Amino acid sequence: MKWIVTIIRVLFLGLFIFLIATGNMLLWLALFAVSLIAALFFGRVYCGYVCPMHTLMIPAEWLSKKLKLQTNNKPKWLKNGVFAWVFLVVSAAAMLLFQKLLHINLPILPIWLVISVLVTLRYKPEVFHNLVCPFGALQRTFGRFALLTKKVDKESCIGCRLCEKACPSESIAVQKEDKKAVIDRRLCLQCTDCAAVCPKSAITYGRKSNVKKIIKDVPGEPPAIGL
Ligand code: SF4
Ligand code: SF4
Repeated sequence: MKWIVTIIRVLFLGLFIFLIATGNMLLWLALFAVSLIAALFFGRVYCGYVCPMHTLMIPAEWLSKKLKLQTNNKPKWLKNGVFAWVFLVVSAAAMLLFQKLLHINLPILPIWLVISVLVTLRYKPEVFHNLVCPFGALQRTFGRFALLTKKVDKESCIGCRLCEKACPSESIAVQKEDKKAVIDRRLCLQCTDCAAVCPKSAITYGRKSNVKKIIKDVPGEPPAIGL
């Protein structure tokens, strides 16, 4: 399964490079807009399978660990979660200004691609996914309503926390009260990394469970009730 996911990601990365190289960045932005609608039904599959930033962040994280650059710390100034939205507004405004005043298409996507890799060379991937990425801020907004999502079968879960360690976006957490894992749809990239390491095959994809629980507060987001 993992190699199929890798092939899908590499194919979309190839498509991204092709569209950027041929001056068709707007087509990719259109694909992103469609992915927001898809997130209402299927969760953040764009983030898990399509996003070139996520695809390049995987080797960047590997390199960061190899070179012992990775830190568990998160920059304090990012922690309130507002900056992802600020970055979204600034990016959109910069694109419009460059187009209006200079008649230049600002290569905003390649710029964010470089930023995502640089951030991941120092910080864990959840810092970029949850606190920096302007596209992630939009995906969270739509993904919180996903009809289909990764979910945990409580009967099977033994609370071993292997899934927590594997998750690139801190979206799965074993709850203190019952020692069972719960997935936060807002943050979940639907990437399958957790399912791959679960010794009990407790993580599946399907209609959201009706667990009524607050998993945790995500900075800059409304409360996560009814995940
Ligand atoms: S890896 Fe599986 S069994 Fe372990 S905590 Fe996560 S969901 Fe539960
Ligand atoms: S909860 Fe599982 S599927 Fe969702 S982002 Fe984390 S590892 Fe990926």
